[in-house]
Amino acid sequence: LFISFEGVDGVGKTTQVERLRAALEAAGREVVVTREPGGTPLGQAIRSLLLHGVPSEETADPSARMSAPAGGGCRRQPTGGGSAAGDIAAPADIAPRAEALLFAADRAQHVAEVIRPALDRGAVVITDRYLDSSLAYQAGGRELTAAEIRELSMWGTNGLLPDRTYLLDMDPALSHSRLTHDEDRMESAGDDFQRRTREAFLALAAAEPDRFRVIDASQPIDAVWTCIERDVEALAAG
Ligand code: C5P
Ligand code: MG
Repeated sequence: LFISFEGVDGVGKTTQVERLRAALEAAGREVVVTREPGGTPLGQAIRSLLLHGVPSEETADPSARMSAPAGGGCRRQPTGGGSAAGDIAAPADIAPRAEALLFAADRAQHVAEVIRPALDRGAVVITDRYLDSSLAYQAGGRELTAAEIRELSMWGTNGLLPDRTYLLDMDPALSHSRLTHDEDRMESAGDDFQRRTREAFLALAAAEPDRFRVIDASQPIDAVWTCIERDVEALAAG
């Protein structure tokens, strides 16, 4: 059984994932809880790039701080402490297509290393975000099409989709106010972006009603959990 949780930041995915884990374990199931991006060591490295950007030259490996010698050639000269013209520049930001590929690479590794092996031995896998986050964020919020993103991900995962996806839905103005940690690169993208992302999630759910359950996440935590609990019982029963 493969279950994903989706929704914009701050809707309470992590809390509900932990409740579901506890309930399934109490029922005697092996449960693997994981998340995207960052469910594997490779994924952690990708997550860090995605959320905090590419390290600036000052923090990067000093051996990489070379300047290309005039006229090319194999030997590159260290630039020393100065900021001579010709230093390798850190990209200002990650291009949308590169970003989509990084998320897809994270997911491909996640499936190969964690999700597929767990499913094969009969465990329940619960992931905090999966394919739909890419569709909602990279396609819904930015300039790529959903079809492109879906194809990338389906290729990367060999077509693995969740049996059930819980979309925790809430007005982004409310969910944003709940975030307690410092914003990362993605979360600071703006209210309008969060609103479009929410709409994209709802459209995805409407297009696949068998896989999705949309849950009003503005309810109290216990009420949200009750919705999930009832549905999971039916799912596990047959
Ligand atoms: O849920 P979590 O905080 O781990 O997500 C990290 C960030 O990456 C979030 O701010 C989310 O908006 C963004 N994200 C994304 N595309 C994905 C998955 C997450 O833009 N496919
Ligand atoms: Mg977050």
